[in-house]
Amino acid sequence: MKHFSKSIIDLYQKVFQVKNCPWCGSEQFIKHAKYHYTYRYKCKKCKRTFLPSTGTSIHYIHKKDQFYDYANVLKNEGLLSLSTMCKKFNIAPLTSFDWRHKILMSIPRNDKVFRNETFCYNLQFNYSRKGRKGIPNPLSNIKAKGLLKDNKYKSQVISLRNTKVLASKLVTVGSVKLKDIKRSIGKNLCRTKSLVINHEIQGLAEFAKLKILNLIAIYKKSSEVQKRIFMENFNSLNLDFKGWINNIKKGVATKYLALYCNYFMAFYSKKFSPFAKNIINQKFVWPFYTLTEHFYKEFILNHTEMNYPKPTKRKWKTSIKYSFKKELFPY
Ligand SMILES: [Zn+2]
Repeated sequence: MKHFSKSIIDLYQKVFQVKNCPWCGSEQFIKHAKYHYTYRYKCKKCKRTFLPSTGTSIHYIHKKDQFYDYANVLKNEGLLSLSTMCKKFNIAPLTSFDWRHKILMSIPRNDKVFRNETFCYNLQFNYSRKGRKGIPNPLSNIKAKGLLKDNKYKSQVISLRNTKVLASKLVTVGSVKLKDIKRSIGKNLCRTKSLVINHEIQGLAEFAKLKILNLIAIYKKSSEVQKRIFMENFNSLNLDFKGWINNIKKGVATKYLALYCNYFMAFYSKKFSPFAKNIINQKFVWPFYTLTEHFYKEFILNHTEMNYPKPTKRKWKTSIKYSFKKELFPY
């Protein structure tokens, strides 16, 4: 029998739940055979077999013990550089990259409802195709033409905060339209009474008008001390996030930006726990991971003004037949 650490054995015996088949979603399954410290199950409907971990962030990971410790570094210490993590865990750069993204994908998309008064902060990052082999990064060309300040090449992120909840999302690349707001943060803002914004955003202004929200520009500094402190804290949190992405991470590919937004805010709110029952039991992490390119393509073509050049060469056994809700993906 393969040897696992106590944490992994506990994970299999106490944390993982088997409620339905991760492939087709059916609740009709049986124990098929004993497998290390757990069971392999068989679905009566689609006839496929699975483990309690199938589809989760730890699925298909051979060095499970190290992955467990790796995820806990992300939880407790934050995001160290990929090379630091390579040395720390004696793993290859690609492994470190894969593990990080699987862990980030296990943080659920934040669709919490922001009631009452909500603060919005719009951050812009240069559109980036970092890491996409064989595709020239358009930014060098844009820089040469002096178009770097053009909205068209900006990845638009909106952070939201009220006294109870915090979230940050990638909205679009280019100018922010009403449909982008509806798609990305519409659910969050469905019960909001008033919005305080850091500067004019066309789509957000239209959204506020549509929902009859009271829109307040942030530039008029509030006379209420408490509110002013809250606003200033939120502004500096966003500036920290921007600095973190641009300096520490030396920029993030737009493809992954949504994941980093999600992670940063979860880490900041101390709400990120990679092995909590509700997190590790999400069976859609593996299909999301293998379909990221597909989702990214849909995002770029349908929701931005950018074009989509040929994709990277890495291919996975496709998992499009998995049962999962596409809306959970953080775009
Ligand atoms: Zn099935």
